[in-house]
Amino acid sequence: MRTGLVLDRRYEAHETGPGHPERPERIRAIRELMREYRRAGLVDVEPRLATDAELASNHAPAHVARVAATAAHARAAFDADTPVCSASYATAALAAGGYLRLLEAILAGDVDNGFAFVRPPGHHAEPDRAMGFCLFNNVAIGARWLRLRGVGRILIVDWDVHHGNGTQESFWDDPDTLYVSTHQYPFYPGTGAASEVGSRTAAGRTLNVPLPAGCGDDEYVAAFTDLIAPVAGQFRPEFVLVSAGFDADYRDPLAGMQATEAGFRAMTRVLMRLAEAHAGGRVAAILEGGYDLDALRAAVPAVLDELAGTGLRDALPSASPRSQVLAPARAAHKPFWEIPE
Ligand SMILES: [Zn+2]
Repeated sequence: MRTGLVLDRRYEAHETGPGHPERPERIRAIRELMREYRRAGLVDVEPRLATDAELASNHAPAHVARVAATAAHARAAFDADTPVCSASYATAALAAGGYLRLLEAILAGDVDNGFAFVRPPGHHAEPDRAMGFCLFNNVAIGARWLRLRGVGRILIVDWDVHHGNGTQESFWDDPDTLYVSTHQYPFYPGTGAASEVGSRTAAGRTLNVPLPAGCGDDEYVAAFTDLIAPVAGQFRPEFVLVSAGFDADYRDPLAGMQATEAGFRAMTRVLMRLAEAHAGGRVAAILEGGYDLDALRAAVPAVLDELAGTGLRDALPSASPRSQVLAPARAAHKPFWEIPE
């Protein structure tokens, strides 16, 4: 498989101040890692700036204008978690635009799949609000862009340890976008209960899998193989987008989960199979959270290995006895999907 990579030092220009976990070193660590990680089929994809019209495909024009206005200030903040500097607007536009370039390369057949290593992240950004380290919702802007190019059913899988409230809100009413999130719950930002399943016209198109603190690879693998794969298989996505945070890793300083690189590998393998079966193999991952640099150094190569397709014929790790933690999500979605017992 040819895998497109978006990775650029300009993503380090968004400064969040001393002690902030969402820091430029995250991208620097991945750039250093990629000097060592080499395999056939990796293709560099040059990012570009998203236009204001592209940003406004998912955001209120007033929100785009508010973020743009911060370029005139050395320091500003949208909330206590979300500081910006004069370079933040341009960096955020390059994050969204980098993802669009990756999607373009996949649609054109230049690459089969890919990963955009960008910051700032996006999944907490709501249509009219920046929050939780996020200014523009990169994955949502990507889905809007694909829709304009004729892609019908789009699957967005968000395995970041936090619930992607912004992405959920963007597609709450959209029956052609299946938004799936696994996340620690209860936890920031407070949304993501199993009972949040989408609006009446899109019921079942939001699949929240809330997990208690302390869950690890077993629970994640069970969620992906026993629940997410059957539901997404019935949805038959034409394109698979992944909000790939690495803050469910056991080393992460913000969250309380126990996932390892083996778990991230298994989740990617499940999605690769789904994409092979329904979406012509089209998978586009984008970096969300993940604040421990050693966790990034371990999990990013595991995901890239799987994007190479080498694991497609290997067995999936079997989840140990099905965990009861999936019961609320199963029950909430029984009315909408066939879910194997
Ligand atoms: Zn997160």
